[in-house]
Amino acid sequence: MIRFGQTADAIAATPSKLAKIELLAQYLRALDDADLAAATRFFTGNPFAARDQGALSLGGSTIVAAARAAWNFSDADLATHYRRHGDLGAALAPLIKPATRLELFSETLGPASMKAILDQIAAASGKAATRKRQLLCERILRACRSELEAKYAIKIITGELRIGLKEGLVIDAIAKAFERDAAEIRRAVMASGDIGAVAVAARAGTLQELAVSYGSPIGFMLASPILYGSSYRELQGAKWIAEDKFDGIRAQLHKDGDIVRIFSRTLNDVAHSYPEIVTDARAIPGSVIFDGEIIAEKEGRVLPFRYLQARLQRKDISAQLLEEVPVTFACFDLLAHGQRFLLDEPLESRRKELSRISITGDHVRFASWSYWDSDAGADALHERFEDARRRGHEGLMLKRAESPYLPGRRGKWWLKLKRELSTLDVVVVGVEWGHGKRAKVLSDYTFAVRGDDNRLLTIGRAYSGLTDAEIARLTEWFLEHTLRDAPAAGRGWRHAIPVEPRVVIEVAFDIIQESALHESGFALRFPRIVRIRDDKPPEDIDTIDQVRSIYAAMLAREGIASPSPA
Ligand code: ATP
Repeated sequence: MIRFGQTADAIAATPSKLAKIELLAQYLRALDDADLAAATRFFTGNPFAARDQGALSLGGSTIVAAARAAWNFSDADLATHYRRHGDLGAALAPLIKPATRLELFSETLGPASMKAILDQIAAASGKAATRKRQLLCERILRACRSELEAKYAIKIITGELRIGLKEGLVIDAIAKAFERDAAEIRRAVMASGDIGAVAVAARAGTLQELAVSYGSPIGFMLASPILYGSSYRELQGAKWIAEDKFDGIRAQLHKDGDIVRIFSRTLNDVAHSYPEIVTDARAIPGSVIFDGEIIAEKEGRVLPFRYLQARLQRKDISAQLLEEVPVTFACFDLLAHGQRFLLDEPLESRRKELSRISITGDHVRFASWSYWDSDAGADALHERFEDARRRGHEGLMLKRAESPYLPGRRGKWWLKLKRELSTLDVVVVGVEWGHGKRAKVLSDYTFAVRGDDNRLLTIGRAYSGLTDAEIARLTEWFLEHTLRDAPAAGRGWRHAIPVEPRVVIEVAFDIIQESALHESGFALRFPRIVRIRDDKPPEDIDTIDQVRSIYAAMLAREGIASPSPA
């Protein structure tokens, strides 16, 4: 894994996308097929092919226990490093102990051999924690010869490489390494659900032989915010499609024969929670992949998001719940139809093809859409917005009519218009015991956004907005996922206990201001938790850049010039 680590470090060190692609392409070209398949998957942050749905189920505490067994360090050492780096791989790696003579003669750890061990860990059944820990300690961590190898071995396991490399760039690097067209590689990844197999096929020239694989989730295309009441310059000179912005759960529905899968934002199959959608989807002729939003809808009326929460992550759904909170899958995009992937088609054609598919029943429906003419002006746009709000939706989506579907990308093709920009999706990094009747629960949360170098930067602390049941559930989770008990240092931490940065919450706030109190250099005023974002992975939280632009937009609205960057 030394070459892997060196390549990953070099990729992290350059901000240039082209340089990242070149570095990765060079590395991939030199690998044999088995290492090529494994390393490409590792670089996407998921050691398993998307279609395998493999999962290591290794929590932070198991990883720390395995590392401690391998390298024998103290809590205080770990705490110091964790505070500095904020990610487990970077924090644990410096604690590596030099390999013993015997270990120096053991087999070297390469991508393919590491993948084989990860397969064994995933295969060890859920409860076999000791076996998993042992495999991790003895076969992976002890086989690392250097801090660099250890750092990336752990980062691969936690799924957080944090080197500024999204799947799109890995695809570009495969294209570059084997002189193929990036669109062809992207299509093959979608089709097969296994980027590792695609890299091998790209070299062998057998990409065409990879078939459409229903059941492999495709990354979700994301939207960029536009500010309500702004000049709407982003909209000028293009043809748009306007859709309601539903306030539900983003989901991707795969229907192939009798098999229906519904993938959440975290790409987990959540079909078991929505049996009524599954039944109606089964009746759709042929094979399709829909992108859409699950919403709670009763007698044609949208129910507020809090109703839908009763349905989330439920395995046993009572007849009463089905009756009280019926759900609908509102489809707004068609990603595959039969053996054709439609990602490169313009949205307009995908939408038209979608509307020709026959659907029956109450629980799968098409989301309505209309063209939006950018010359129509702000008043007409606001009217359309209010109309969506009156019908119980969060706002408007504006999508370029010629937009391709770019999995996992957030760009200017899709824009979201909400009333205010005053919410951020953040991750909880520290927790504190509450006061009064909340003295026995962890109810005060210090949260962070993602910094320029991917480090988490605190930006505020909130203790209102969640229900007692939600706080109780989170308290249980946090107690199992604290990183240590001693209070953390660092700006913005106060007395918080550091926890694994995995719980994503949406925080609303009234004002944003510059502040030396937090690591981000900003503080949110009157933050309140809008909801827990179980559907959102921590990699997708908002960034410091988004904070800066909200801040600049706020100043602009108040007629204050934003301070030029130092
Ligand atoms: P938000 O917090 O604003 O819901 P997000 O960060 O979850 O956003 P974005 O891609 O930035 O995700 O914003 C679009 C989100 O809006 C989607 O993830 C999806 O859940 C939701 N949504 C609702 N209606 C639509 C629609 N018609 N088209 C696309 N996304 C929609």
